[in-house]
Amino acid sequence: MYAPAGVKTNKEHPIPETMKAWVLGNPGELTLKSKPVPEPKKAEVLVRIDAVAICATDLEIIYHGPPASIQGGYAFNKNFTPGHEYMGTIVALGPGVDEYRIGQRVTVEIHAGCGQCKRCREGMYTACHNYGLNYGEVDKGHRANGFTTDGGFCEYQINNINTLVAIPDDMSDEEATLVVTAGTAMYGLTELGGLVAGESVVVTGPGPIGLLGVAVAKAMGASPVILTGTRDNRLAIGRELGADHVVNVRNEDAVEAVRRLNGGKGVDYVLECSGAPNAVNEAIRMVNRGGKICLAAFPHEETPVNVADIVRNNIYLYGIRGEGKSATHRAEAFMSQKRFDATKIHTHTFPLDDLPTAIRYAKDRVEDAIKVVVKARGVSAAHKVAAE
Ligand SMILES: [Zn+2]
Ligand SMILES: [Zn+2]
Repeated sequence: MYAPAGVKTNKEHPIPETMKAWVLGNPGELTLKSKPVPEPKKAEVLVRIDAVAICATDLEIIYHGPPASIQGGYAFNKNFTPGHEYMGTIVALGPGVDEYRIGQRVTVEIHAGCGQCKRCREGMYTACHNYGLNYGEVDKGHRANGFTTDGGFCEYQINNINTLVAIPDDMSDEEATLVVTAGTAMYGLTELGGLVAGESVVVTGPGPIGLLGVAVAKAMGASPVILTGTRDNRLAIGRELGADHVVNVRNEDAVEAVRRLNGGKGVDYVLECSGAPNAVNEAIRMVNRGGKICLAAFPHEETPVNVADIVRNNIYLYGIRGEGKSATHRAEAFMSQKRFDATKIHTHTFPLDDLPTAIRYAKDRVEDAIKVVVKARGVSAAHKVAAE
């Protein structure tokens, strides 16, 4: 029987002592193992994971290592369970928790900062100064499930209450896994420099964050919203999510197209989501003088940047990490008000036991996969579900 001291449980939601969990071995090697169901401490709950989406960052972690940091180093061969874009049902409450109830459906954001550093105190907990320090003598209590602590490719996980976002009954499990992606787009658009409502925006790169960046920008009243990319099928989804114009950069020069589409002028704001090596310099030429560029993707190599144009044109350039300042809660508010339909980027669902297949679909973009979700229950084995 699962009955840790001080933890509230409920007979309607029985909890086993052990669970299925995917564990990372060598790079690219995942094995399904049994792990003890973790125990929530103060300010934590136990979430039964009902659905988890695969993110490009999961693929980075599984095949290359960073940005995960387990016990001060790479995540390989440390009994680590990756996965961070999950949602589920609360089944146990840690000591003193009364902010949520057992049986409540929630989605999660990733970063529970240390809560004591300068950035956490400012609400920028995704830039916590104690990132990854949650072990040994330097334990500051930082958690980022799937990055510095065990994540969601399993049946149960513990979450700090600060990382929980309540969701309405009519939001599907699959849609709920996308709230944190929309939250990241929201953080990129509203924090730091910040998009002023009604201003013009270019989103470069129609990956999940870029596509939901289009949706959030449009919902915020941006005009026009221009999406650039190389794949027509993804650009078409961008249009459905609110892009006024799309530009296939294989067919025309992105900078010239942006200027033409915005009356000969550069735009006020660029949300860079492609990670392409030339993306920053193109963004510098896409914004108008005094414009802002938010970098939400990263190239693998160091890239030269045209500093002179940034200075001469008073351009603001900054990076963002993840989904801070409660942006995920604001994204959920947009989604529960049906300001956009995030499920347009969900393409496939697989059972949790088929995670390697799901990862192959996400990595190789099999059948034009965008967001691939795995579920521990409700999906029959050996049958993938292609989303509508
Ligand atoms: Zn992610
Ligand atoms: Zn901190």
